[in-house]
Amino acid sequence: MARNLEPKCKQCRREGEKLFLKGEKCFTDKCAIERRNYPAGQHGQKKGRLSDYGVQLREKQKIKKIYGVLENQFRNIYKNADRQKGVTGVNLMQILECRLDNVTYLMGFGSSRSEARQIVRHNNILVNGKRTNIPAYQVKPGDKIEVLAKAKNQLRIKTAINSAEGRTFPIWLDMNVKEMQGVFKSKPDRTDISSTINESLVVELYSK
Ligand code: SF4
Repeated sequence: MARNLEPKCKQCRREGEKLFLKGEKCFTDKCAIERRNYPAGQHGQKKGRLSDYGVQLREKQKIKKIYGVLENQFRNIYKNADRQKGVTGVNLMQILECRLDNVTYLMGFGSSRSEARQIVRHNNILVNGKRTNIPAYQVKPGDKIEVLAKAKNQLRIKTAINSAEGRTFPIWLDMNVKEMQGVFKSKPDRTDISSTINESLVVELYSK
């Protein structure tokens, strides 16, 4: 499966902010953004003003990196969001948030979205009791997500959920950490999703 192979910290430095792509390291002072918050490379520290188009493009790239989706997938997600009733930008964010790999990450079963995606792809996640290995699967309100019984002893899953518990879970998830399971209560409101994302810039970009 195609994926973005650019080093993760380099991706954050390109966007000039923490995108939380590397699990625990992102919460420590080893984070590259804490140390060198400018793009990598010879011209990384040169400051130039971005055009409106440049700003819109960077926001799109940032969102793609956060959720680990590539250009074609992202374009399809956008088309989907645009077809739905309501505000396109909010729909876009909700589709991204409801992806099974994202929900697996938010429930703490993976330390990063990419690790959560791998856990899903390796058949370690059950949705309403059924193995589901499609990272883009759209989780619906009321769905019960749990770690497969024989995967519950995996060190990486145990470590991830312990760390996530220390940071508290989003309010739209009802978690049972001991059982490594949770219920996706409802789609998040826009105010519950990261405020560092400005999805309206993506809508402007695609509306041209
Ligand atoms: Fe980004 Fe995490 Fe690397 Fe920091 S440690 S630069 S947040 S991926």
